[in-house]
Amino acid sequence: MFDLIIIGAGPAGMTAGIYAARAKLETLVIAGEFGGWIARENVEIENYPGFEKVSGKELIGRFKSHLESFGVRTKMAEVFELKKGDGIFEVSAGEEKFSAKALIVATGASPRPAGIPGEKDFLGKGVCYCATCDGPLFAKKDVAVIGGGNAAFDAARFLAKFAGKIYVLEKGKEVSADAAGREALEQTGKARIIANARITKIGGDNFVKNVAYYDAGDPEKKEIILPVAGIFVKAGNSPAAEFLGSLVDLDEKGQIKVDPGTNRTKTEGLFAAGDVTDAKYKQIVIAAGQGAAAALSADAYLRRL
Ligand SMILES: Cc1cc2nc3c(=O)[nH]c(=O)nc-3n(C[C@H](O)[C@H](O)[C@H](O)COP(=O)(O)OP(=O)(O)OC[C@H]3O[C@@H](n4cnc5c(N)ncnc54)[C@H](O)[C@@H]3O)c2cc1C
Repeated sequence: MFDLIIIGAGPAGMTAGIYAARAKLETLVIAGEFGGWIARENVEIENYPGFEKVSGKELIGRFKSHLESFGVRTKMAEVFELKKGDGIFEVSAGEEKFSAKALIVATGASPRPAGIPGEKDFLGKGVCYCATCDGPLFAKKDVAVIGGGNAAFDAARFLAKFAGKIYVLEKGKEVSADAAGREALEQTGKARIIANARITKIGGDNFVKNVAYYDAGDPEKKEIILPVAGIFVKAGNSPAAEFLGSLVDLDEKGQIKVDPGTNRTKTEGLFAAGDVTDAKYKQIVIAAGQGAAAALSADAYLRRL
């Protein structure tokens, strides 16, 4: 039996592991893979303190060797079920079961691709999912934002600080962003909202050069090509929280509701951290901070048992 099991080995899970090890908790980190999106894709990070510019792979590698330097046990496996009985958590991963007195869920969330031809090919070459992360790379360049919800408008407004023109492409007849978001974007004077847009492909050579669409109301489906250097896809996120059943409360986006500050969930001894939670901002430094908070809360909980 472990004191603590941490599910997930992104910035949140690995930071939680480092804090747990320093608190001398018998800890197991279980993860499908180390890192997640940022370790897998061609991501350059310019906003993690202490590193002016670092690849996602290298940063995750450093988190991992820091975690391993404390001798924390790790297991590569997908967790598919979590149960709690008699105050003990039972985790089913692959063919095995593990038990612990406390548990931290740090399973992250994946940006939902829009499924546009060219989207995968140009990932990291102009196709981005995070305006806060990659927006500054598009100074004075024209960009497109795909989506018409609040997240898309927030992204477009952030991009207006750097970019030239911003096209917001929404497939519905109307955007769903709220009035305040629409007004704030309009005030930048840089954005053009295009509703009813059916995007057909993202084009370019080594990097994105354009995005093509047609108007859904046009019977001829005449293709219109917008020259842009960047495409920001804001089609929502999929938090990895399905396997938790009724042990947690989820918000309308499927994110785990946590108590801000302690990262407690509704179940005693169960904590959550990082992008899988309902924290407003999704960033590496924030996920790491939440991982630290969750581990400190788990340690305090275990000391009270
Ligand atoms: C393309 C892209 C670029 C980004 N660029 C930046 C940037 O420049 N700067 C920045 O601050 N942020 C950036 N972000 C955001 C940042 O990556 C996240 O905020 C951060 O990684 C969240 O960390 P996390 O630990 O919560 O989750 P993740 O990093 O997503 O890690 C989740 C972990 O959980 C594991 N897992 C999931 N489900 C299970 C399961 N059922 N069983 C076992 N393990 C499981 C995964 O294998 C992984 O180890 C970017 C995101 C994307 C998508």
